[in-house]
Amino acid sequence: MRFQEVIGSIYPWDIRDEGVEAILDNLQERALCNMVYLIAVEIGHKRPITDDYYPHNPVRKFNLVEEGRAYFQTHPEFYRDTPIKPHPPRDETLAGADWMQVLATAARPRGLKLGAEFSHGWHDPDELETRCPEALQRDVFGNILRRHLCFNSAPARQYALGLFADICTHYDLDMVQTCVYLFSPGSFAVPHAHGVRWGDTAVSQEVVRLLGLVRSGGCFCDACAGAARRFGYDWDGIVESLRGRARWLTIPSLGEAMELSQLLHGDGSAGSLLLEWPELYQFMRFRIDSVTDFFREAHETVHRANPRTELRLNHYERYPELLGLDLKRLAPHLDSVRNSDYTEQLGRLDRMEEKRQRLLRTRRGIGEQMKLISAIGSRPKATPELVRLGVRIAAETGCDGLSVGHYEGTTFECLDAIGEGIRQALVTVAAPS
Ligand SMILES: [Zn+2]
Repeated sequence: MRFQEVIGSIYPWDIRDEGVEAILDNLQERALCNMVYLIAVEIGHKRPITDDYYPHNPVRKFNLVEEGRAYFQTHPEFYRDTPIKPHPPRDETLAGADWMQVLATAARPRGLKLGAEFSHGWHDPDELETRCPEALQRDVFGNILRRHLCFNSAPARQYALGLFADICTHYDLDMVQTCVYLFSPGSFAVPHAHGVRWGDTAVSQEVVRLLGLVRSGGCFCDACAGAARRFGYDWDGIVESLRGRARWLTIPSLGEAMELSQLLHGDGSAGSLLLEWPELYQFMRFRIDSVTDFFREAHETVHRANPRTELRLNHYERYPELLGLDLKRLAPHLDSVRNSDYTEQLGRLDRMEEKRQRLLRTRRGIGEQMKLISAIGSRPKATPELVRLGVRIAAETGCDGLSVGHYEGTTFECLDAIGEGIRQALVTVAAPS
């Protein structure tokens, strides 16, 4: 076996706090990395996300990330066709530096391949909710889903394509990776109703997931209506049916609550529900058509800007069909995939076969020819033993590389375990060029 890539992901604040050379030394010497990428656009959240505090950051215990900031040097001409513009960070310790260039300047003399990622959401929800709400998704009742851009809407789509074109034009990247919220999967909590039995027995989780999609999933915005009609769907029929169902899920009468209880506690399946509600199936197909069409255009944009840059999907969702993601349909518009399974960090040996299942499903979706990179969940509670097993499973399932998930939260013993796991699995790693 041979891994083409062992990849470390780096945040701008990692570079600020630890220094780029120290980070690259650690990634190369401990985990045998031959490639690195910068998280170049990110939403607001706390880092690290799986633990309270960083394991090895010498300057701070945790970090509160600003909403929708770009950490590379952006160029206004790429965003002429959209009111949405990328913003530099407000944080003075991060503003004024081109972190993509800082990483490139340090990585290239080492022969490391270089990439960038646009992560989670790519916008400032507060700003868009007031200035450009049409860029955001809406649920079936018309409520704004503020953390989800709708890529059927022209402002969001042109902004996204601008980001791809901008970064690929200026940094000669080996790959640009998207890890983005696609269509909101929504959620469903069992409502209360007097006298109707709830919650004391197991309910079908696959049914609950589909109900979540109906109850508060996206998207039902005007741009989606236009796209659906263009794709040939009976959009008005879909919306009318799903809105009725969503109301039933939100404020059921006692009779409806009784039927809902039967649905949840019976042994109906997702398949039976989709046959019963063909409009729900049509809605899910429409979302897949939409996401596929967005990636078609993103792929063309990336290659127009730089023919050698790979467009890579970070495939993070356990149930991709809930986001509008069909890997078989998407594969022609991708160059490679990172399977974002972090089972190691559950700290449970008995769950590790789930990693193999997810990698096999992803491989089936993208075919044998496409490069498949397996993430390794190396944050606490991962142990060196589980990390080495994760590396072995990646090798046994024919993956083409590994991706550390993520450097900032990885203990050094788990970083070492990636290198040890590679050696123990008798895998060679392509040398830095
Ligand atoms: Zn929409």
